[in-house]
Amino acid sequence: MSTMHIRTRFAPSPTGFIHLGNLRSALYPWAFARHNQGDFILRIEDTDLERSTQEAVDVIIEGMAWLGMDIDEGPIYQMQRIDRYREVIKQMLDAGLAYPCYMSEAELNALRDAQMANKEKPRYNGLWRPEPGKVLPPIPADVNPVIRFKNPIGGSVVWDDAVKGQIEISNDELDDLVIARPDGTPTYNFCVVVDDLDMKITHVIRGDDHVNNTPRQINIMKALGGTPPIYAHLPTVLNDAGEKMSKRNGAMSVRDYQKAGYLPEAILNYLARLGWSHGDAEVFSKEQFVAWFDLDSLGRSPAQHNPEKLLWLNHQYIQQADPATLAEATKPFAHELGMDTEQGPDFVQVVNLLKDRANTLIEIAEGAKLFYLPAPQFSAEQIAQNIPEAIIPALKDLIAAIAQAEPKKEAYSAAFKQVLAQHQIKMPALAMPVRYALFATTQTPAIDSVLVVLGKDEAINRLSRVVS
Ligand code: GLU
Repeated sequence: MSTMHIRTRFAPSPTGFIHLGNLRSALYPWAFARHNQGDFILRIEDTDLERSTQEAVDVIIEGMAWLGMDIDEGPIYQMQRIDRYREVIKQMLDAGLAYPCYMSEAELNALRDAQMANKEKPRYNGLWRPEPGKVLPPIPADVNPVIRFKNPIGGSVVWDDAVKGQIEISNDELDDLVIARPDGTPTYNFCVVVDDLDMKITHVIRGDDHVNNTPRQINIMKALGGTPPIYAHLPTVLNDAGEKMSKRNGAMSVRDYQKAGYLPEAILNYLARLGWSHGDAEVFSKEQFVAWFDLDSLGRSPAQHNPEKLLWLNHQYIQQADPATLAEATKPFAHELGMDTEQGPDFVQVVNLLKDRANTLIEIAEGAKLFYLPAPQFSAEQIAQNIPEAIIPALKDLIAAIAQAEPKKEAYSAAFKQVLAQHQIKMPALAMPVRYALFATTQTPAIDSVLVVLGKDEAINRLSRVVS
């Protein structure tokens, strides 16, 4: 084990909708390869031509890049390896490891019906399987054969699953798998085996919906003279209602999370904990994750998606982020909302002011509107309604005090205190009209900080419009 060069792969089928849970199946093999200075390969299992889409491939590749899962080899597309699969099928036929089966669709159905009627598990009966001394039926002229793998008879397939422990499946459970269809195209389980062997995969870390495929794959692999990799089958990710994740019940793709203002670091951290743990660590960097990752700490029961936890983590990462980097990440959202962040206050300062209360970049961008939308225009009636007549003298004194103050939070705070004392009033009585005068709202971050960010001249201009 210590001298083994670790090679893992993520082998998605680009069919349908790629949700966040799907990318967890990329994260663990990636982390395992990185932890062991091994190689991580991306293999696109696109042989289901009807269901595979370029859109799904793009979502996978972009999502992985955004989350920082770098790839050493690939993407390798199975459709580009069809010749290789055909070559191996031919070798297997030549070596007697596989055989053509001429059973027609109708015969197969009749066989299945008869087995079901007898309460037997439907399985191919080995009619065309060559055995020493066995006479095969005459080859029908009008049937294109499938190619079947000669599964071992008797004994069982055993593997030590790194998550599920030892699994043993009797060969009696496994019939002779079709490895090529009548038109010669290779089938799914067969391509996986050829690829895992050719790509020298040492650890197959994948969803446990593949457990049933594993004994078949191991048998084919052994027939081809290969050593099966170590398998780690990951329990499913359920949605927050405890159901299988799917677009229909509201699952989001990684792209959706990006658009909703999540940081890739938060998503990566979140996905890492969705079925793996390191003591009680909840917030950790990508580097820590890689340093800590091992197969032993993978969870054995289904993980459940928890949107609140993801939001909480995003908040943690927003708070921790370097202000300039966070501002860069927030800019596209601000631009999307129609703000010109080049005009007006320094955007880094704005973001820094807003980040403590925000859970997403969109929330920061929404908050930034205060500083980038044009100054509100008021009718005389609006002013009369929102700025009490009695507070006008205090506001005038505040304008004067702000004008004298150093452009710093502490100085503005002192200016407020001085006016409050002078007029014998409480903070809300002054701060609410100030907020309204500045932004036409009473909801803003701390007013002294807001003044710093908005800028002294702009603040005085806006305040002066309501006192004259
Ligand atoms: N293509 C399969 C899937 O998307 C994964 C196959 C594997 O990892 O062996 O579920």
